[in-house]
Amino acid sequence: MNHAQIIEIKPESEIAPEPVIDSLAEIRNMVSACIQCGTCTGSCPNAFAMDLTPRQLWYNVLMGEKETIFHSKTFSLCSVCYYCTLRCPRGLPLTETMSALKQIAAKENLAPYKKSIRFYKSFMESVRRHGRVREMEFMTLYFLSMKNPLMPLQFAPLGMKLMSKGKVSFEIPSKGSNALESIFLKVEELEQR
Ligand code: SF4
Ligand code: SF4
Repeated sequence: MNHAQIIEIKPESEIAPEPVIDSLAEIRNMVSACIQCGTCTGSCPNAFAMDLTPRQLWYNVLMGEKETIFHSKTFSLCSVCYYCTLRCPRGLPLTETMSALKQIAAKENLAPYKKSIRFYKSFMESVRRHGRVREMEFMTLYFLSMKNPLMPLQFAPLGMKLMSKGKVSFEIPSKGSNALESIFLKVEELEQR
């Protein structure tokens, strides 16, 4: 598999297309017992950066507000810590629901999530090749996928700082050992089912 296959991005969609409606119905079922108590919001370490709190996100899911949901950054900022899931008094699978929303955004290649989807795919490509992330290669893949020649300049000061402290080493991009290839292929197979 080459780069182009792995970081191939479908044409961007500004709003969620119709098939999302069915997926959203499934997601609504996952949080249908929400009583809007706000415990998830109070537990979430990333809530301060979210435009909708987790509680507000579930409200919009319950109301079927597709436009609001898929223009929100909230689910893309979930770091999968599971605090909300552990503390929800209704025992709802909130972390999985956040992940399900991320999957829809990635599958439909929705424009508001373009950066985070490409960032994630570039990260995983490096892990797939080497069994761990190689920072220089990861960022190179990300810049290439973004097709913005000015983007590396924005990161240059941070990159220099990290290199000067020995946090990032210079490594020539390579195909790596592909030691995790069988695991990635198995996951891809399971995702097709
Ligand atoms: S903690 Fe559970 S019940 Fe309370 S608002 Fe969040 S999802 Fe709803
Ligand atoms: S799992 Fe996600 S939404 Fe839940 S508390 Fe952690 S970061 Fe917040």
